[in-house]
Amino acid sequence: MLDRLTHTSDPEAAIAEGIAPFLALRRDLHRNPELSGSERRTAGIIAGLLRDWGYEVTTGIGGHGVVGRLSAGEGTRSIGLRADFDALPIEEATGLDHASQVPGVMHACGHDGHTAILLAAAHHLAKTRAFDGTVVLIFQPAEEIGAGAKAMIAEGIFTRFPVDAVFALHNWPGVAEGRWGILPGPVMAAIDQVNLTLRGKGGHGAAPQETVDPIVAAAHAIAALQSVVARNVDPQETAVVTVGSIHGGSASNVIPETVEARLTLRSFTPATRALLAERVPAILRGVAEGFGARAEITVKPGFPPVVNHAGPAALAREVALRLFGAEAVIADFRPRTASEDFAWMLEERPGAYLFIGTGPGAPLHSPEYRFNDAILAPAAAFWVRLAETFLTGDAR
Ligand SMILES: [Zn+2]
Ligand SMILES: [Zn+2]
Repeated sequence: MLDRLTHTSDPEAAIAEGIAPFLALRRDLHRNPELSGSERRTAGIIAGLLRDWGYEVTTGIGGHGVVGRLSAGEGTRSIGLRADFDALPIEEATGLDHASQVPGVMHACGHDGHTAILLAAAHHLAKTRAFDGTVVLIFQPAEEIGAGAKAMIAEGIFTRFPVDAVFALHNWPGVAEGRWGILPGPVMAAIDQVNLTLRGKGGHGAAPQETVDPIVAAAHAIAALQSVVARNVDPQETAVVTVGSIHGGSASNVIPETVEARLTLRSFTPATRALLAERVPAILRGVAEGFGARAEITVKPGFPPVVNHAGPAALAREVALRLFGAEAVIADFRPRTASEDFAWMLEERPGAYLFIGTGPGAPLHSPEYRFNDAILAPAAAFWVRLAETFLTGDAR
């Protein structure tokens, strides 16, 4: 597949040598995280750097989204590389020198790292231009609220900046440092949200017989929900039902009127997704009714599973093996049950979503999470080599 890969920029050594400013940039972004939809400063930094390096830059796409485009040679092919750059509403607890300076906001998913990686690649690609075609760098805001990808697509990124394939990566704690998870097919789950209001009849905590206690009904409903995955979902399929939030009542001696809960449903196939969306409300309604309460339910469709296309996934795998050796790609890597709005981009264009391990440490979205800067240079080299190979080599 890579036989025609004759001229490349030998990115590994050069990027590793010049990584210091991108490490500093990563830490600056970490100190100054911005919540989904408010990424003004970060977008400004990205756009400024890309312009300095000679990219044609478009800003304000789907909120604070930035696209940088660069062409070299006569080639007509184009590749999209996407990084996300929003942070989370989490109070950082790492105690690092470069910890967040914004109370209650933290880059706890490593999107500061994804941005620094793609910028390091962008810098190298612009300096060496050892490709034949067009590189389209997609810097996406608002990933954590599942809004950015859709907003950028709605504002026409793939028609204004056409790409033959689009790729993205995510760092992954708990996977060996610098090793890759690259799979064809579904790699991240679909996610849907269920909002529940369980309505009973409030009253005095001393006279439950005069009330309909929504707290007791909610407790039974949540216990019963566990049977959806255990008894309804095909045992060969993967599904997750999580009640992530529950609120009811305000005093120990008062039976409240209502209990509010928020759930997420995750799945990898349309059939399981539909099953969860049917069975979860059915159980909530049925149990509530059994207790004389009423369940008001809204199912808010989130986004589809991230499904990698076979060709682009195979190419990415090949590039990782070439760059980092036979051990670099994890043989038994399994899909993750987290979700990603990059799913929408893969519904628009062929492409693949890749994982790179960051070694031991706290998981994503933890206040203790630490991005591992050791992956900056190799991941940037991977983007460069993937772009060069896709555009220059016989990479289909
Ligand atoms: Zn995240
Ligand atoms: Zn993330």
